[in-house]
Amino acid sequence: MVALSPVTIGDKPLESCCFLFAALFDASSDNVVITDDMGRLLYINPVFSRTIRHSNEQARGKTAPELVPDSQPLQRHFAAILQVVHSGAGTSLLVVKPDNQPRRPLHDHIAISPIVGDGNRVVGTLSIGRENTSESYVEDIETRRREHYLRALLDNFPFSVWLKDKQGRFLAGNRKLAEVVGLAGTTELEGKTDYDFYPADMADGYVQSDNNVLQSSRPLTVIEQIKRRDGEVYWAETHKAPVAINGEVIGTVGFARDLSTRKKLLTEIANREIEYSSLVQSLPLAIIRYNTQCQRVFINSYWNDSHQEAVDALMGKTPAQAWNENIHNMSGEQFQLRLQEVIRTGVAQTMELQGEHEGQPCVYAMKLVAEYDADKRIIGALSLASDITEISQYRQRIEHLAYHDPLTDLPNRTLFNDRLLFSIGHAQRYQQQFAVLLIDLDNFKAINDTVGHAVGDQLLIEAARRLLNCVRNYDTVARMGGDEFTILISDVPAADDLAAMADKIVRSLSEPFVIGDAEFFVTASIGISRYPVDSANIDDLMKYADSAMYHAKSRGRNNYQFYAKELTSNVTERLLIETGLRYALDKQELELYYQPCIDLHSKRIVGAEALLRWHSRELVQIGPDKFIPVAEESGLILEIGNWVLRNAFATATQLNTGRVVALNIAVNMSSRQFLQDDLLATIRELLEQTHCQPGWITLEITESLLLEDNVSIQATLVALHSLGLGISIDDFGTGYSALGYLNKFPITQVKIDRTFVRDITVDQDAGILVKAIIAMASSLHKDLIAEGIETQEQAHLLQELGCMQAQGYLFGKPMPLSEFVRLCAQTAQA
Ligand code: C2E
Ligand code: CA
Ligand code: CA
Repeated sequence: MVALSPVTIGDKPLESCCFLFAALFDASSDNVVITDDMGRLLYINPVFSRTIRHSNEQARGKTAPELVPDSQPLQRHFAAILQVVHSGAGTSLLVVKPDNQPRRPLHDHIAISPIVGDGNRVVGTLSIGRENTSESYVEDIETRRREHYLRALLDNFPFSVWLKDKQGRFLAGNRKLAEVVGLAGTTELEGKTDYDFYPADMADGYVQSDNNVLQSSRPLTVIEQIKRRDGEVYWAETHKAPVAINGEVIGTVGFARDLSTRKKLLTEIANREIEYSSLVQSLPLAIIRYNTQCQRVFINSYWNDSHQEAVDALMGKTPAQAWNENIHNMSGEQFQLRLQEVIRTGVAQTMELQGEHEGQPCVYAMKLVAEYDADKRIIGALSLASDITEISQYRQRIEHLAYHDPLTDLPNRTLFNDRLLFSIGHAQRYQQQFAVLLIDLDNFKAINDTVGHAVGDQLLIEAARRLLNCVRNYDTVARMGGDEFTILISDVPAADDLAAMADKIVRSLSEPFVIGDAEFFVTASIGISRYPVDSANIDDLMKYADSAMYHAKSRGRNNYQFYAKELTSNVTERLLIETGLRYALDKQELELYYQPCIDLHSKRIVGAEALLRWHSRELVQIGPDKFIPVAEESGLILEIGNWVLRNAFATATQLNTGRVVALNIAVNMSSRQFLQDDLLATIRELLEQTHCQPGWITLEITESLLLEDNVSIQATLVALHSLGLGISIDDFGTGYSALGYLNKFPITQVKIDRTFVRDITVDQDAGILVKAIIAMASSLHKDLIAEGIETQEQAHLLQELGCMQAQGYLFGKPMPLSEFVRLCAQTAQA
């Protein structure tokens, strides 16, 4: 360091001393500058002369900034000179040379001393500048800078950090630690021990672990409690390690991470998990989770109660590896294939598993759904199974009742139609022929009326038995109602064989019937139609057999007749209807009638069914039962169906504008409408155009539509349902199908067919069937409506059985819109 003490020159003028300075400093390796009291340069030595690139002569009399403008260091130097002159005290300053590399700047350390003349007056200054390139100096500054960074780093660390010597005295610590132990600054930590800050038992523990680290020379992580100065105790994860300098262990370093927020979060997550799992565990569903390899990774406690062993056997296995042997209708391999499909495509699947549970038959409705992670990637699948044994028993019962005649236990009309439908497909495929025999007992009605039902019933039972005896066991004998039977004879090679069979039947039925101790005699008239000779269409075949049967009756009964073309003139009638219908829309001959639907409890109108009417100018009044089938066959139903939808939607809007509780309009849909691609789009568009809300509309479909087993139909139904439209199954109970579809499709309502309603007050079986239908539908949460109510008695009974809504002549026949509007207004006032 250069001395700063004043240079005294007595009464000598400063200028005269310059030669002296030159002698002193010309050889110096420092920068030396002498100024007068105005900062003007009087002398610069050769080193400085080189530094500023001006000679002593050039410099003399000028200030340094005058000589070298724009030099920051010289500017600062000049200012310091004036300050020294002013204050009379020496000073020093550090200037950085601008043209040096930034990473290791060169410093000039400049010492400025006043030159004091006579009377202690400052007459000038002496500056000695040394280029400070010494390593230690620069390192010093570097070290300080690094220390500063380290400090900042440590102090902003969210953990407590410290360094202790071997005796457990703190050598250093960060701000967080100071805060924990209640100190204002980190420097106060130095020299203290844990005992200064923590309760003795805690401090004992800390010291113990420090010693462990020192002895083992190994890092250590402990979870320990730390008591803050403010009294709060928290859990921390403390990491300790030995610190060595030049191979000698001098103490330990430690840092402690506060675990309390983490712990809180973990507790929170654990609580959630408990809530969630108790929910899953107590659902009345058997839930199994599968990973993408189809291995079971979770099984809820639905099974556990009684079957812990069985559950253990399934866990971790795939269905193919371990399967519940009590399931009969599906193997583990088959199930696994469906599971893989769900995991591959993400599309859910439903199925029914049948088997037994503790010796009892049982049925489960099972749904397989894919599971996704947060990135929407499939990570496995869930199977959700609910026990629908009871529902399925109802279903079987209904199915049997629905398919069989309770008196003779023969297949009924429904099952017969079903078989007929099947036979057509089969016969087409194998190029076979089959025949339909329609048998009517000629004098049965008379017997029934004179000797009573009991005898009549016995006679029918016996007749059924004889019919079965006349056919092969793969033919179908059915009772169509009353004294009418049908037989489906499959695979008949020749008309001769048929004739022989029919002859046998005629003769068999003409044998006396012995009931009690009386003998009764009936005869039979039989009509026969053949596929494909007479027609390839079910309805035609039935109609033709009917015509042939009447022909037999007119031929004196007790005989059989084959169908012949001349027997019907239907073909022409059909053609007339079709031609007329083609123009019906253009000529505005169509109209929608509305039949009120009422709530059985409040007796209020809740909606209406739209029913089509055709006011043909050319044909006599003709009902929808006649013209709708023609429209369907000819394809006209699409155009007509759209017209019906548009009008029904517009009516719904008209009726519901300004209403508080909306009226629901039911629209009949033909299956053909669902086979067109754009039904969904059309309905959307029509709703929009008519400003009709989807919730105001229920679409009535038939069971046969659901039988189509067509994915696009299912998709359309699902889309319509999610749009908000109701889906009702019309004529429920008369269909061809198994009732499994009630689960499978988005059905909102079941409409009990009017044939059941008709029989319900007279026929016990009809009552039982309706009761079962209602029980099943309500257990599946479907709305119920009954149609064809004509008497108060029927209404009462249905209400008692749990049916909510009804429709029928008792409450109102189908009527023009204007009339329906009037009726609504009346009942609203009443
Ligand atoms: P559906 O859907 O079963 O309609 C109910 C039928 O029962 C209607 O016959 C109705 O007039 C009748 N009905 C209502 N209450 C009673 C009652 O208390 N007793 C009796 N005996 N009958 C009652 P409708 O109007 O002759 O219609 C016959 C069938 O034509 C309908 O049967 C339906 O399948 C079809 N249909 C009618 N309109 C349309 C339509 O717009 N589109 C389509 N695709 N089919 C329609
Ligand atoms: Ca209907
Ligand atoms: Ca109906």
